[in-house]
Amino acid sequence: MTGITGQDGAYLAQLLLHKGYRVIGAVRRASTLNLPRLAALDLVGQVELNTLDMQDFTSIVRLVEEIAPDEIYNLGGQSSVQASFKQPLYTGQTSGMGTMSLMEALRLIAPEVRVFEAASSEIFGLAGNGMVDETHDFHPRSPYGVAKLFSYWSVVNYREAHGLHVSNGIMFNHESPLRGMDFVTRKITATLAQIACGSQQMLMLGNLDNARDWGFAGDYVGAMWLMLQQPKADDYVIASGETHSVRDFVMLAAQAMGLDIEFVGEGVETRGLDRKTGRQIIGVSADFYRPSEPDPLIGNASKAHKKLNWQPKVNFEQLAAMMAESDLERARNGQVWY
Ligand code: NAP
Repeated sequence: MTGITGQDGAYLAQLLLHKGYRVIGAVRRASTLNLPRLAALDLVGQVELNTLDMQDFTSIVRLVEEIAPDEIYNLGGQSSVQASFKQPLYTGQTSGMGTMSLMEALRLIAPEVRVFEAASSEIFGLAGNGMVDETHDFHPRSPYGVAKLFSYWSVVNYREAHGLHVSNGIMFNHESPLRGMDFVTRKITATLAQIACGSQQMLMLGNLDNARDWGFAGDYVGAMWLMLQQPKADDYVIASGETHSVRDFVMLAAQAMGLDIEFVGEGVETRGLDRKTGRQIIGVSADFYRPSEPDPLIGNASKAHKKLNWQPKVNFEQLAAMMAESDLERARNGQVWY
């Protein structure tokens, strides 16, 4: 598994270990390994770690030869849309070319391995209104979306041209208490928790009316595994089928922490007031707006429901409450963030 130190990596490692797998995480060499998510699920020591960088074709070849895996889950790469506007080439190299490198390595030395590729709903971008399924046109709106589209087509091409068992999971946003702090849901729950505990004054956000199809990461890793158990590889949309705004998420998270928020004003003038004290605790800044946004995408996961028998268990309200409660607990215990 690449990306084992990330959000999905931790939940997927937990699932695979539970199923009796030997799990080997392919991690970038760093002076300090990024292990808090694996530690949060008590998995450090249960997974093996080996060195790999998605930018280094030779490291992919070496590791595949050394391990001879039955399945590969490719979750590693620059995963933030916002960061991709600042690091477009790095994003392309890791999340685009990285997948092509993996495909080419497998074609050369291990064509029998089954592979899951973490594709993204960001490939749809300007999709118009309505639900989006596997047949929808693509129009990515960020360097991340462009990189993921290259990756998506690499997978399709190596499947069609060389018969590799590679599947794209076209995943819509999925979150959890292990989500990185640079993603909006986690920024909201972590900062509101600090506000509730008195150690932070203000939560600054971008466009509150941006809407996403948000699910729980723990549910989405189940779909990854199911794809590799199919006799034939294919591409699947993995989504909740509902869309909610950032404002909705803020309200639910605040509620779960006992904060009562009222929004006044519009656009960048919007202010979120704590009803109990009248104090402003939420503000909006154009600095957090993206240069270009996708349409509010809603995923149609009927194919995954039908063919994989996959169903998410955690809904939007439960997700917001789960993340809020987890961050409130961390804030109360003065725990370090990740
Ligand atoms: P994440 O928490 O940001 O994790 C990303 C992982 O990629 C980390 O383990 C990171 O390792 C690793 N990585 C970064 N650069 C790398 C490189 N050059 N070589 C090897 N590994 C590298 O992301 P996530 O939310 O778990 O997402 C997992 C995958 O699903 C990503 O590919 C993401 O783009 C895709 N995806 C996610 C969502 C979502 O909503 N979460 C939706 C659609 C698709 P370090 O610890 O070394 O940084």
